[in-house]
Amino acid sequence: MMNSTQLAVIGGGPGGYTAAFLAADMGIKVTLIDEADNPGGVCLYRGCMPSKALLHVAKVLTEAQEARAWGVDFGEPIVDVARLRTWKNEVVDRLTRGLGQLTSQRDVTYLTGRAELLGPRTARVITKSNEATELIFDHAILATGSRPALPPEFSIGSDRVWDSTRALEVPSVPRSLLVVGGGYIGLELGSVYATLGSAVTVVEMADGLLPGADRDLTAVVVRRLSAICEELLLDTRVTELAEDGEGVRATIEGPSVGVLDRWFERVLVAVGRVPNSEIPGLKCTGVRRDARGFVVVDGQRRTDEPAIFAVGDVVGEPMLAHKASHEARTAVGAIAGQSGVFEPAAIPAVVFTDPEVAWCGMTEAQASAEARPVRVCRYPWAASGRAATLDRPTGVTKLIVDSESEVVLGAGIAGTGAGELIAEAVVAIEMGATVSDLRLCVHPHPTLSETLMESADVFFGQSTHVYRQKRQR
Ligand code: FAD
Ligand code: NAD
Repeated sequence: MMNSTQLAVIGGGPGGYTAAFLAADMGIKVTLIDEADNPGGVCLYRGCMPSKALLHVAKVLTEAQEARAWGVDFGEPIVDVARLRTWKNEVVDRLTRGLGQLTSQRDVTYLTGRAELLGPRTARVITKSNEATELIFDHAILATGSRPALPPEFSIGSDRVWDSTRALEVPSVPRSLLVVGGGYIGLELGSVYATLGSAVTVVEMADGLLPGADRDLTAVVVRRLSAICEELLLDTRVTELAEDGEGVRATIEGPSVGVLDRWFERVLVAVGRVPNSEIPGLKCTGVRRDARGFVVVDGQRRTDEPAIFAVGDVVGEPMLAHKASHEARTAVGAIAGQSGVFEPAAIPAVVFTDPEVAWCGMTEAQASAEARPVRVCRYPWAASGRAATLDRPTGVTKLIVDSESEVVLGAGIAGTGAGELIAEAVVAIEMGATVSDLRLCVHPHPTLSETLMESADVFFGQSTHVYRQKRQR
């Protein structure tokens, strides 16, 4: 069967479905292709959403425990893992079915199947039942996303070695869990399992967790993770895994630990993701990939093949849903003849551990690597009334400010709700706000958002809730 469409979108994740919906809203005839019955991609089916549902449960369990200090005792929580799994699946189901409805309401043609390219203007979709549909398009957007990286030393063909997709299924709560990689997934899912009762060991090869974040921010989460995890091993690598009885034997090496031989019931490998850029037929087009396999695009997300664009994880880091959806808007704008390019000053990063860690714009480490003259203003949450009422006084909010122009270049927050709070800093940075702008905006009291205003106060040497002796100024 041969069909034609103005825009073919391959991949139904946040990049793909955002592009398809916007294009349809602009009057473009769109065909969206994904293997799943409804759009959603990694983010909804096996990424952002199921992980945040599980993290919510972990937070509730933690708060139930903390409540004893406030005079409330809920007793010993009993976790019904089967019900937890069902609830998490219901969340995913509700959201993906919602996207399915939005797809049909917009008259986007949705093809369930795997797409391959036949040339610069033609694709073929193979459905689950092995039927083929050919599609002629004016433009295409590749939004095929990414998948977990599984280096050969971890690829031992054992179902006791999990990737993030398997861990999100919560097949069991193992007595012991080795988490390889102290990045986003390792810390988010590691803390879920630690809270559910697993003895979790995190092994990270860099000298700090979350290598992209400033150390003073990660210190806040490290304090808590140290309390709930069995061990956090830094500057250490897992060099070998081998199935052993009901579990897995791991060789762990590092300067501070030497060579360790340990047994774990399960292992979660979370050492990054690789782009799904081996789209069959790509070679029939001018689309180019770089050495790491990312599709090469320009500022408008156009590939070297003029009619084909690419967005999201498949074009590079940061591999974040909100980056994918913004790139999608740029690409659709370009297809519609607009001149906008994708050049955000601040893409927020949020790690949804408890407490959360969030940052955007320039980090302190970047400023110092670039020898950029900046002033860093830190506001400790111990001085925040709202943090005290939440019994979460360990946190920090900081601003990275250009010393000369006083423009806010970056922000970092570690503490409960940091992911929500960082949005204000994103707006400030994108609007070119100065530290005075932040200071002079009236913030609601008592809220954690005041910590951003008071960090700005710190720049001027006077913050209401922080006393600094005159000689220290
Ligand atoms: P994807 O969401 O990967 O979607 C690509 C889709 O294309 C998939 O459905 C795939 O099956 C389909 N596809 C691939 N090839 C073909 C083909 N040939 N034909 C048809 N279909 C094809 N990001 C955040 O911003 N916040 C978070 O909290 C967050 N949490 C995460 C938690 C986990 C555990 C993981 C793994 C990721 C998380 N991410 C998070 C990252 C986020 O999921 C990705 O950045 C985002 O999904 C990328 O969107 P995308 O549209 O590029 O691709
Ligand atoms: P990551 O890049 O965040 O972290 C991987 C970590 O593994 C790094 O710190 C790296 O130094 C370490 N590592 C690599 N090889 C190792 C080895 N052999 N031994 C020990 N440590 C090793 O990758 P991830 O956690 O797999 O997540 C993938 C991507 O998915 C993230 O980069 C992010 O873009 C996205 N994601 C985002 C969120 C969110 O936004 N909250 C949540 C989950 C995933």
